[in-house]
Amino acid sequence: MTTETGVLVVGASAAGLSTAEALRRGGYDGEITMIGAEVHAPYDRPPLSKQVLAGDWAPDRAVLRAEDHIDGLGITVALGETALSLDARTRTVRTSRREISADHVVIATGAHPRSLPGQPVIDGLHSFRFVDDATALRADLLEARRLVVVGDGVLGAEIAATAHEMGVDVTVVGPQAGLMESQLGGGISSVLTELHAAQGVGLRLGEAVVGFAESGGRVGGVELATGETLPADVVVVAVGAAPVTDWLRDSGLDVDDGVLCDSACRAAEGIYAAGDVARVRDAVTGTSRRLENRTNATEHGLTVAAEILGQPRGPVGAPYFWTDQFATKIQVHGVIPRGAEMTVVEGDLAAGRFVAALSIDGTVAAIVGWNMAKQSRRHVGRIGHTVHEDQVGVG
Ligand SMILES: Cc1cc2nc3c(=O)[nH]c(=O)nc-3n(C[C@H](O)[C@H](O)[C@H](O)COP(=O)(O)OP(=O)(O)OC[C@H]3O[C@@H](n4cnc5c(N)ncnc54)[C@H](O)[C@@H]3O)c2cc1C
Repeated sequence: MTTETGVLVVGASAAGLSTAEALRRGGYDGEITMIGAEVHAPYDRPPLSKQVLAGDWAPDRAVLRAEDHIDGLGITVALGETALSLDARTRTVRTSRREISADHVVIATGAHPRSLPGQPVIDGLHSFRFVDDATALRADLLEARRLVVVGDGVLGAEIAATAHEMGVDVTVVGPQAGLMESQLGGGISSVLTELHAAQGVGLRLGEAVVGFAESGGRVGGVELATGETLPADVVVVAVGAAPVTDWLRDSGLDVDDGVLCDSACRAAEGIYAAGDVARVRDAVTGTSRRLENRTNATEHGLTVAAEILGQPRGPVGAPYFWTDQFATKIQVHGVIPRGAEMTVVEGDLAAGRFVAALSIDGTVAAIVGWNMAKQSRRHVGRIGHTVHEDQVGVG
């Protein structure tokens, strides 16, 4: 039996919900069906590695919207239902329960954690993306003495900070010279790395992991290419995420590290992708980019809804993400290119409160706030301008 709907949103999380809400706000009165593989009501991921892991929030506090708000949207939400394939020509999705055909299909299936080659499935070895991962890791950390985090990116750094504050002895191991170096550039990465070192997080940077030691049926350590084993009672592998596109294999869509879309998130006639799964072409540069951040998920939802409503949005602002580690709040506006030069434009680096412009060939590509969130926003107008154009966009 085939169910028919106006809009089918596949993926009940940040991007999917943003699309459904924006459609209703914009006056769409057709049927909206949202399916999600998880059994949990739509929830937010940023608190998982911070408040939920720390135990400051009960897991259900991370829900994105109250139940009555979702009821009020008048959408059909089917949780625990997984999309298995899509026929882009007929816009028909086969799910674990049925077939659904739609006037518009929104692909919002996000990403899933990457694992290391040959990574075993053993007790004490965790990946981290879903609320159940946060609960399971927290339970293990409450009993643990030593955690090794494999991964020196944003998720690894956040988990390390939270676990250290829980009183666990933490070591981060990864291939980069500094924490979050590819996301923050060398200058800010050094400041972050020093922050972790000063707090007492062990850092084994510039190291390759080749395997895991087992002890009594549990993970016992992390093996490095040098032959050394870092002992651990708990290990988290946080080595990035891959877009969830396996179900689109025979869809007829272009998929290459994400669903390829035009600048309006359109993958094919009546088919859109939003959030972490979408690789969107930049209307100006023509290059395509897949972003994994919370604001991007919301923005894509707004863009897709506007397209479906026939009221296209103009270009959106610079990409933006934040991360909280220890008491430090970091805001990143724009994308920091490799080799970017850092100039402090407000505040004081030594005092732990500053705004920096990250420039390449003298042109600002990104603005970073370090414990200066509000002030950093005031400098966003500098992006695209020469670093020394002092008054550009600063209100
Ligand atoms: C632990 C953590 C902390 C983060 N912290 C920050 C932060 O501090 N700042 C920031 O800017 N960003 C942060 N992010 C990134 C941000 O949360 C993501 O960019 C955002 O969740 C992406 O939303 P999404 O809806 O595109 O995808 P997801 O949130 O991944 O949701 C996709 C949903 O689709 C479902 N799904 C997958 N396959 C199928 C299928 N075949 N059928 C049906 N449903 C399916 C999944 O189960 C999932 O619920 C964090 C991410 C994580 C994991």
